[in-house]
Amino acid sequence: NNSAIRAMFEEGKRMAAIYGKENVYDFSLGNPNVPVPQVTEAILDVVKNEDFMTLHGYMSNAGFEDVRQTIADSLNKRFGTNFSFKNLIMTVGAASGLNIILKSILNPGDEVIVFAPYFVEYNAYVRNYDGNVVIISPDTETFMPKLDEFEAKITARTKAVIINNPNNPTGVVYDEATIKALAAIMEKKEKEFGTSIVLISDEPYRELAYGGVDVPFVTKFYHNAVVGYSYSKSLSVPGERIGYVVIPDEVDDSAALIGAATIANRVIGCVNAPSLVQKVIKYCIEHEVTVDLETYEKNRNLIYGALTEYGFTCAKPDGAFYLFVKSPVENEKEFCEVAKKHHVLVVPGSSFACPGYVRLAYCVSYEQIERSLPAFKKIAEEYGLCK
Ligand code: PLP
Repeated sequence: NNSAIRAMFEEGKRMAAIYGKENVYDFSLGNPNVPVPQVTEAILDVVKNEDFMTLHGYMSNAGFEDVRQTIADSLNKRFGTNFSFKNLIMTVGAASGLNIILKSILNPGDEVIVFAPYFVEYNAYVRNYDGNVVIISPDTETFMPKLDEFEAKITARTKAVIINNPNNPTGVVYDEATIKALAAIMEKKEKEFGTSIVLISDEPYRELAYGGVDVPFVTKFYHNAVVGYSYSKSLSVPGERIGYVVIPDEVDDSAALIGAATIANRVIGCVNAPSLVQKVIKYCIEHEVTVDLETYEKNRNLIYGALTEYGFTCAKPDGAFYLFVKSPVENEKEFCEVAKKHHVLVVPGSSFACPGYVRLAYCVSYEQIERSLPAFKKIAEEYGLCK
């Protein structure tokens, strides 16, 4: 399914060569487009000032202690938590963070619950450890979790539940009430089955929330929660492969899980997160560096405002940089083909286990969005959406 996104991206490049880059409106890939120049300063500073062997040598599989402590302090300050470096493992992006947790907790045949629409690479991560993905169908009104179905689908084999907040592909943010409701159901089911169910919160878009919307920190609401984070989006460095997982002391068998996840880092072949960029993260936290949110927020306002004005239906995204739009025809792949004729590239919702919708990644220039609007208007007219 992820290959569908890549295929669309390749198609965009092919079309750009034919029609000119400025005449192709590629909304296919969630690749950040806002540079963070202070990251360059951080890299230069670290390379110049760190001891060579400390910077480039082998280290603990969990990563540099000083970097982890800096992150722990910053989380404690922001969320009133009580972490130390021991609760953190530096990872090769969010992808490897999710993998080391799943490797540590899954036995063959264990179930992992996800809420459609979702980032379908979760399927591959769960299957890596012979687990089975259990999908909760989408609530297409709100794109919040369907709690009744969730409760009904938890079994004695349920080992983990993955949420993604803010969400890819909808941009929706789960609020505190939703997290509390999920937690209450999981606690009830843990008691009923005498099992341990880990809530894994995948949060690469945590910093990308607009208009002061609160993204609840899940470890405060559920005892058995771990958080996977990545700097791919908040510092615009997905190629650098850097993130972390937090495993609080309150988690069941927390020391064992931290130990297993630390070893998993090595066993699955990541060994440790890249050392140079770990130190860059420390610098960025100390200097309060983060991506300029306003750029994405302006893009969101422009594209959401225009598309809804043309008659398209979509949930207003409070976070991430995606818009999840209802396809005017049942088969959204057909809609993608029509959009392509207008040089607009979007990804079918079936790539996120939610057919009937398409995802637009608005991490592109404001000018590209402006240029694309007449094409969206024509598409809306073609489908008779315009009011
Ligand atoms: N989870 C979600 C929801 C994502 O959208 C992505 C990347 O786009 C990832 C995880 C993987 O992030 P990373 O590049 O940090 O591994």
